This record gives sequence, C-alpha cells and structure tokens, in this order.
Amino acid sequence: MGTRLQAAPELDLVIFGGTGDLAMRKLLPALIRLQHDGLLPARLRVIGVAREPLDRDAFRALAQQRVAACLGAAFDVAAWDRFAALLDYACVDATDAASYEGLASMLLAAPERERVFYLSTAPRLFATICEQLAQRGLNTERSRVVLEKPLGHDLASSQAINDAVGGFFGEQQIYRIDHYLGKEPVQNLLALRFGNALFEPLWRRESVRDVQITVAEELGVESRGDFYDQVGAMRDMVQNHLLQLLCIVAMEPPASISADAVRDEKLKILRALRPIAGADVGLKTVRGQYRAGAAGGKPVPGYLDEERIPPGSTTETFVALRAEIDTWRWAGVPFFLRTGKRMPQRVAEIVVNFRSVPHSIFGQTADSLNPNRMVIRMQPEEKVELHLLAKQPGDVMHLQPVHLNLDFAETFRSRRLDAYERLLMDVMRGNLTLFVRRDEQEAAWRWVEPIMDAWKASTERPKAYTAGTWGPASSSALLGRDGLAWHEEI
Ligand code: NAP
Repeated sequence: MGTRLQAAPELDLVIFGGTGDLAMRKLLPALIRLQHDGLLPARLRVIGVAREPLDRDAFRALAQQRVAACLGAAFDVAAWDRFAALLDYACVDATDAASYEGLASMLLAAPERERVFYLSTAPRLFATICEQLAQRGLNTERSRVVLEKPLGHDLASSQAINDAVGGFFGEQQIYRIDHYLGKEPVQNLLALRFGNALFEPLWRRESVRDVQITVAEELGVESRGDFYDQVGAMRDMVQNHLLQLLCIVAMEPPASISADAVRDEKLKILRALRPIAGADVGLKTVRGQYRAGAAGGKPVPGYLDEERIPPGSTTETFVALRAEIDTWRWAGVPFFLRTGKRMPQRVAEIVVNFRSVPHSIFGQTADSLNPNRMVIRMQPEEKVELHLLAKQPGDVMHLQPVHLNLDFAETFRSRRLDAYERLLMDVMRGNLTLFVRRDEQEAAWRWVEPIMDAWKASTERPKAYTAGTWGPASSSALLGRDGLAWHEEI
C-alpha cells in the first residue's frame, strides 16, 4: 500500500522511551520480525533513548532480557544477535537541554541518513523533545516524527500538542499512530470494498440495516489504575480506534490509496457524524463501570476496588453508543460502537448487518430468516466471514446459515505482519496512509467532547455491570429500541 516501496537504506530510528514497555513489548519484537523477513532498511540503526545511564552494551543486554521475557518460546538467540548489532543507546533526559548532546553528535556524525523519531514517552514530553531536536538542527526535511497515543485528553490539549509538534515538523512529517489501522483485516476491508465491484452497490442504506463495532477486552485496569482513571474508555478507545474503524467502514471510495485521498474521505465521515448532545446523550450513549465478577473462571474485584482507583470514581470502563452519519449513503443507518474492560472475551470486530429479504418464499417469514452479515474480525483471530443462507441437505427446503470464511492465513500462506510491523515499515518508507491526520484527530475530539461533558455534568453514576459480562443491560436496550441485538446475542 502506498507509493514508495523501499525505505532509504541509511536510516536512524530513534526511540524516545527506548527502555519502556511499548518499546520492549511491541517495537523491538516487530523490528526483529521485519529483519527476519528482510524488510528493514539495509543500514538501519535503532537508537534507544531514555534517562537511565546505560552504555550500548548495557542497553543491548537489558533489551535482550526484556524482549526474551516477552517473546518466550518465540525468542531466537541467533535472530537476536543479528538484530542487536543494529542497537545503540543515548542517555537523554527529555527535559534537560544539555543531555541531548550525546544523541546529537551520534546523529550529526551521519548527516546523510534519514531520521525517524519515535516518541514512545508520555505526551507531555512531545513538545520539549521536538523543540530540542530543532534547536540542534536534527529535524531535517528528511526526518519524521511518530506520535503514540494518547494525543491529549480533549480537543484543547490535543491542539496544544499538535501546535507544539507542528512548530518543528510539517504535517507530512508527522505520523500519528492508531495501531488498529495497522491490522491486516482493516486493510483487507479496504481491499474488499474497493477492489471488488460486488460490495459497492450493497454498501449503503438501501442494503445495510446496521453496523456494529466492538472492541472488548477481558483484562481490567491491571496495575495502571491511576493512569486509566484519568482517561476512561471514551478517550482510550472510542475517540481514536473505534472512530477510525467507523471511518474505514463508512468512507466514500477515495480516488486513490494515497495518504491524503484516504484521509480526506475519513475526515468527511467524522464531520458528518450527527452530534450527540443534551438529552440525546442519555438516549444514545451508555457508560458503564465494572463491579466484582469473574474473568477466566476466577473471581476479580470491581473497578472501585482495583489498586490506585480513587474512592467513588465515575470513570467509565465501558461505552456503547449509537452513532449516525448524515450523508446520502448512510442516512438512517445506526452505527453501534461498543468497548469495555472485563468483558467475557477479548474481541475486536466489525459487523455489517444487511437487510432481510423483502419477502420469503420458503414459508418462514422474512424476519425469521437470518439476514446476511459480514464479520471482519481483528481479534482474537484475523478473518472476514460472510454469513449467507443455504439449503440444508435433505428433502425439505430448509434454510440454514453458512459462513463463507475468507481465511487469509489459509489462502496466503505467507506470514502476516502485525500492526506495529506494518506501521513501523510504513514510517520507514514514508507512507502516511495508515496514520491519522491532525484534522481527523481534532474532528474526532469535537464529536466525543460534548458526550463527555454531559456525562461529567450528570449526577448519575456510570451503570454497573458484572465483570465477565457484555456490559450493562442498557447496552442491549440501546439496540433493542431499534429491534436489534448485538452480534453475540443473536
Ligand atoms: P513506560 O513503560 O513508562 O516507559 C516510558 C519510557 O520513557 C521509559 O523508557 C523511560 O525511561 C522513558 N522516559 C520517561 N521520562 C523520560 C524523560 N524525561 N526523558 C527521556 N526518557 C524518559 O511507558 P510505555 O508503556 O512504554 O508507554 C510510552 C508511551 O506510549 C505512553 O505515552 C503510553 O501511553 C503510550 N502507549 C503505550 C502502549 C503500551 O502498550 N505500553 C500502547 C499505546 C500507547 P527512563 O525512566 O529511564 O527515562
């Protein structure tokens, strides 16, 4: 996907927060797999940056230990040794200008190399880091900067981050990560929609009854209670991942797969989302918080009894909402979004429910026949299923649902890239298609903010749900009012 298929052979990938959880659990393992597949730039250098005083060997040893622990049986010493040869380290305190000296001299010693600065630190450091890089002339035209979520906690703070980073890097140099866009089934949805003539005539209000997007986690807040309590499910999941998925389902065909053609279309969808404010918030949104229940067959505490959660917190661990897109294509089609912690299983899926046949010739009423459905699964497995009705073998004409499984693992035997592999490769190649543009991000904040404001102003607590269930009863009622049900309830 994209225009440039090869990264520049000479590239420095600088990971701020290079000793952190994200770097060790996701970024380094992704780079090892890319190297195994021959997908890294020929002369790549990966420079970890953090405050911990380490030299190159100590960083390599620390990284080996952490990556091995994370990969378990998949850790391959020979592959590690090949990869470790690319690793270097610079000790920098992002807030201390003098400490950039070592990093600057490493980079300036090879001025011809392209540079990618991956900011895997708290976002409050983004502005300082970019300013310091600029002061030392490291933000050349051939440099890029990668921003991890969370990009702010509301519109104003996200604008402040964007202004600060934008002061030193042009928009075409800024790669805002939404790792859901890096998932293979999401790109396959683009391929299915725009590579086949079959779906386009059906992909509209006349044929689609509703769309459901679910990202459910089995885990609770684990040890990150203090962080999560400041954020909640709306900011952590809906504002970014779920709205991006909605855009991929709903956008008009872009004129090409180029970054701005795709992002222009996604932006139009975000701007066409009907605002939910005032009394509508109570009708069209559900916020929940888990109470004690079970996960993986074991009892687990409720949110308020988790570590580092302030007493009486009203932070939501579950959101369901009914969105509508005011365009000719989608007028009147509800898009139900749902995300939560402590759900029965870890699932990420998009379900497109088509309308029933207008008249059944088979004796059963049209409504009693299962309508066609497309299920795009991102987790736990990656697949796309088309649910159809077929005749059950035998002498009577009895219809039963069958699933046409577009099993990519089966069809394409080659290994599929995970999201961070895909996105790291795209950053190194300079392909922005799967990254979020500033105006998209801000349009998403504009839509979710009035909902969060209404929740904040309300005296009602989030609805309680038992850990290990699919959320509060009002989540089912949200669809029930349209005579519908969530996919797993059907
Ligand atoms: P983390 O484990 O706490 O790591 C933070 C990293 O930043 C460490 O390497 C730390 O090393 C470094 N650091 C902190 N303050 C610094 C400073 N002043 N100057 C230079 N380096 C500094 O955090 P993380 O989980 O990796 O997450 C990093 C960012 O990515 C966060 O914003 C997080 O929200 C986001 N994110 C994380 C994940 C994930 O799965 N972990 C997923 C999506 C987004 P020193 O303490 O030695 O400086």
